[in-house]
Amino acid sequence: MQADGGATELRDLSVETAFRRAPGYVGRSWTHDADRWIDVVDPSDGETIGSVPQMDAGDVDRAGAAAAEYGREWASVPASERAAVLLRAAAILEKHAAAVADTLRREGGRPRLEAGGEVAKSVQTFRYYAGLVGALDGRAFDGGAPRMRHETRREPVGVVTAITPWNVPAASPARKLAPALLAGNAVLLKPATATPLSAYFLVRCLYEAGLPDGVVQLVTGSGSVVGAAAATHPDVGAVSFTGSTDVGIALQRELAGRLTKVQLELGGKNAAIVLPDADLERAASSIMAAAFAAAGQQCTATSRVIVHREVAAPLVSILRSRIEELRVGPTADDRTEMGPLIDAGQVESVHGFVGRAVAAGAKVEAGGEPVRGTGYFYAPTLMTGVQPSSELAREEVFGPVLAVLEVADLDEAVAVADRTPYGLSCAVHTSDVAAAQRIAAAVDCGVISVNGPTAGIELTAPFGGFKASGTPSKEHGPEALDFFTRTKLVTWRW
Ligand code: NAP
Ligand code: MG
Repeated sequence: MQADGGATELRDLSVETAFRRAPGYVGRSWTHDADRWIDVVDPSDGETIGSVPQMDAGDVDRAGAAAAEYGREWASVPASERAAVLLRAAAILEKHAAAVADTLRREGGRPRLEAGGEVAKSVQTFRYYAGLVGALDGRAFDGGAPRMRHETRREPVGVVTAITPWNVPAASPARKLAPALLAGNAVLLKPATATPLSAYFLVRCLYEAGLPDGVVQLVTGSGSVVGAAAATHPDVGAVSFTGSTDVGIALQRELAGRLTKVQLELGGKNAAIVLPDADLERAASSIMAAAFAAAGQQCTATSRVIVHREVAAPLVSILRSRIEELRVGPTADDRTEMGPLIDAGQVESVHGFVGRAVAAGAKVEAGGEPVRGTGYFYAPTLMTGVQPSSELAREEVFGPVLAVLEVADLDEAVAVADRTPYGLSCAVHTSDVAAAQRIAAAVDCGVISVNGPTAGIELTAPFGGFKASGTPSKEHGPEALDFFTRTKLVTWRW
């Protein structure tokens, strides 16, 4: 087997060997054609685990043109055969789940259980969209006149650019690839530079499963060069982007003049509202899971607890002791419950938020500083006395920092929850059905969870944020197909 991963059999791939140089895919083949390679680093120990080509705008130009050319054939393949490719890819990915999960664990700094869960979800995503093949069927309509009939056809958009973030290395590419390919599109995939190896593995599985050459192009390199070129390629009909709000908005501005379809899944500042009649132990479990999984680096992470003042003290005390028990450490250790942040810059950024919050009067109840030693660790942090108008209450931290805000009643809870530019996910913990209903109706978020975590969203149900958290189009569920298709009306007369 080759150390560069180019001609290896998929069964031989493992993080130690094949990813030393994971190729991109441009045109109709895997490519090692790069002057420079970008190292992929394990944030637990700073070790380099592999590399990907540093492509340039010319590579992306060729990839986009190839996607357009080879995508036409794919669009004419019967949808049931496209679904069959996804099913086979799911089986191949499942067979190699342990190796992919290990890759994801290392490149993403994710504990083993989380990494395995994300790979399993990616397998499920391929299967789920294969099963939705019937949703692509058109409808027939009464003609409104004799010898007349209308029919709709659901067509692919053409070439879709998919740009994904480092914090969801496998599931984010999977949830764009699967519905886009099922619908008959070609895909130009640009994974995050920090975590491109899981995405490489997914594309390998698709080709092993019989995806025709050239239908998915894998381009790697910096977002501002390769990502921008992939989004603005003249052959691209739709861009599905998951990442930060700043980059998403800049992309939308760039694309506005071209009428390209744009889907943006952006940041969040998600709250868990805890009412006095909540089961506090259960609420704390949901809050802990959503606040500290992926070390808080999730768009749906719980980063605020908005608690009724009657139960603030007992809830803070439960959270403080759970945080003290949380095992933080390298992901190679199976006992680790919370791994590192993605890089040194993220540690510095998170610590900046904590420092400014303290300066604004908040109190550190637990954590509040980087963990010394190798790797990019930050202690799980709990802060009280956080003012609703402060930065920590309103801006996305993307780290293991939980801000507690006290409120006097349900209306104030809703007002505080909405006092952020974001509107992704919100949880409410209560045993009062009417109160939960009121909050579910009032809060300006795309996702509301009653007595559950803000994160860990189901694949089968539509997911997406309001306000600065994204565009209205959804990922997950049957709705995801809407973005990757366009409806053609055919009127028949005879
Ligand atoms: P990011 O910096 O916005 O990057 C996202 C992707 O865009 C990466 O592949 C990046 O490439 C690329 N990119 C950067 N600049 C670009 C440009 N000018 N043109 C085109 N592409 C460009 O986000 P991130 O730091 O990777 O991810 C964290 C963010 O994603 C958080 O804000 C989080 O909330 C959000 N997120 C949202 C969801 C959701 O579903 N709503 C899910 C997960 C994450 P490089 O890696 O090469 O920079
Ligand atoms: Mg970034």
